[in-house]
Amino acid sequence: MRCEKCNNESMVNTSVFRLSGCLVTLGFILLIPAAITLAFTILLTVLGVYATGTAASEMTNKLVMETEEELQELRVPQHVIADFKDDHSISEKTLNTLSSDQRRQVEITMDTYNAVAAGAAIGTGGIAIFGGGFVVALFVLSIPALIIGFLLILRKKVCKCPNCGYFFERA
Ligand SMILES: [Zn+2]
Repeated sequence: MRCEKCNNESMVNTSVFRLSGCLVTLGFILLIPAAITLAFTILLTVLGVYATGTAASEMTNKLVMETEEELQELRVPQHVIADFKDDHSISEKTLNTLSSDQRRQVEITMDTYNAVAAGAAIGTGGIAIFGGGFVVALFVLSIPALIIGFLLILRKKVCKCPNCGYFFERA
């Protein structure tokens, strides 16, 4: 095939960017951070789920231990502590074995435990939702940037003259 411009006989099959240089540059500017952000949000989601779960269970463990110590200090019988350790609550049946004075103290301890446990659950849940919202926002922003970036750097198949740079699109 002969070049229309310079009559060079060796036209080559190659591909060029569909759009002009500055748009291709813009495409890469969009594409690279969008791809990094996307990878980052996926990583953050995985880490976030793991960290939230770990923080919540650590908090619960600490709270259970503290409550257990408080019960020890109240000098309640061991079966009351065993009941608490079993399912983190003390049954009515167990409470009935205590003197009214001890029972009142145990109930106060358990009210505190339940309130703190509920607060901890709300707290870690709130952090997870806040963090999750931030990650989702980043994710949502990076998707269109990624698509536009891809469109801007699309290539087309051409037949190009290596001598003068003239090209035409191949079918
Ligand atoms: Zn040419």
